[in-house]
Amino acid sequence: MTDRSIVIVGAGIGGLAAALALTKQGWRVEILDQAHKLEPVGAGVQIGPNATRVLESLGLTERLAPVVGTPESLIVRSGPTGAVLSEMPLGAAAVRRWGSPFQMVHRGDLQMALLAEAETNPNIRITLGRRLESIRELDGGIRASFSKYGEESQIDSQGLIGADGLWSKARNFIGLTSPTSFSGCVAWRTTIPASEAPKWALASRSNLWLGPSAHIVHYPLRGGSIINVVAIVEDSWRERGWSEAGDIAWINRRFRDWHRDVKDLIGAADTWLRWSLFDRPPEWKWTRGPVSLLGDAAHPMLPFIAQGASQALEDAKVLGDCLKESKPLAGALLEYEASRLRRTAMVQKASRQQILPYHANGLIAAGRNLVMRALGGDGLARRYDWLYGKVV
Ligand SMILES: Cc1cc2nc3c(=O)[nH]c(=O)nc-3n(C[C@H](O)[C@H](O)[C@H](O)COP(=O)(O)OP(=O)(O)OC[C@H]3O[C@@H](n4cnc5c(N)ncnc54)[C@H](O)[C@@H]3O)c2cc1C
Repeated sequence: MTDRSIVIVGAGIGGLAAALALTKQGWRVEILDQAHKLEPVGAGVQIGPNATRVLESLGLTERLAPVVGTPESLIVRSGPTGAVLSEMPLGAAAVRRWGSPFQMVHRGDLQMALLAEAETNPNIRITLGRRLESIRELDGGIRASFSKYGEESQIDSQGLIGADGLWSKARNFIGLTSPTSFSGCVAWRTTIPASEAPKWALASRSNLWLGPSAHIVHYPLRGGSIINVVAIVEDSWRERGWSEAGDIAWINRRFRDWHRDVKDLIGAADTWLRWSLFDRPPEWKWTRGPVSLLGDAAHPMLPFIAQGASQALEDAKVLGDCLKESKPLAGALLEYEASRLRRTAMVQKASRQQILPYHANGLIAAGRNLVMRALGGDGLARRYDWLYGKVV
């Protein structure tokens, strides 16, 4: 035990990973989350080589082995015609190129694995059912106020990490006011039992279909027992939350002009959940005194290059590295922030910039298809070197 203790708000992927990284540097961590129970919710997330190496450094590889999948390739097709535009080798090729594997996992399975690891760690305490309301600076630390069924409680600590997601309350203390804005895109997701899915969709590949004002990503999960499908469509429906039921007839109609394989896949699902996609422009700071942010609270991004969870994991690793020595917390947090601002801003921007080529129509789509074919699989992989290569 040490006398270095810190509060993390949010037991999502970022908060739990940060807790594990900090205890490796001798910190005691108290995590608080508004959820009354942490349940394996969400859908599939892709974890780039830039983040699978973080999971390995946290000692998660063995625990995750039964639930992660390693795709052989990413295959990109035209949604309307089904023509293959490019196939980027992954599997062993990803390890050779970027030094770590590219993997796919159910968000809930990843969160539960991090949680199980945290629960066995004597320097981590997790308290559920506590919603952060406000933070106040004290002499030599902070006081955070939480509510539970309308009752308020307070925690004093040397510092606090706000890993409280897209709608972060911790941002208020930092003084960040830029609005969280709707992207004009809505994600529809489903999982289809392998026995109900078209046979061609069972191959261990990540699949990306590009078409007018929409794209689809799908891949097998949980040892190939289910197929995770996410369709991202341009639409005006904007609500907070992750679990609004989607209308099956609507989503089938939306893709009725796409290639028959897409229609077969969409038609095989009997439930859909949808969520509106929000993000914010990059911030120029996210630390004030002994309080800093991490993950979506700091840099929410659209899922177009599948980096939301991966960037939160990178944050966690860098946070642990910066808070390694017994230097003053506020200075160490500024160092963490400085190491992450540029990188996460680049990823946020790159995610947004993909809307145009992914959802192109007409001449722009034809140009995109030409470029993708000319690039080939290796050329496409080269475009990801800055993202997947070793940075943390
Ligand atoms: C329920 C849920 C389902 C998701 N499903 C998917 C998915 O299927 N695919 C995908 O790509 N991404 C999904 N995401 C987002 C994805 O997990 C994040 O983009 C990424 O992992 C970064 O994680 P994070 O830890 O920064 O934030 P999050 O994963 O959003 O975690 C934030 C945590 O903070 C807690 N919290 C929020 N506000 C407060 C407060 N005021 N006080 C206390 N606790 C608070 C939340 O309960 C949550 O546990 C989901 C997020 C959530 C919360």
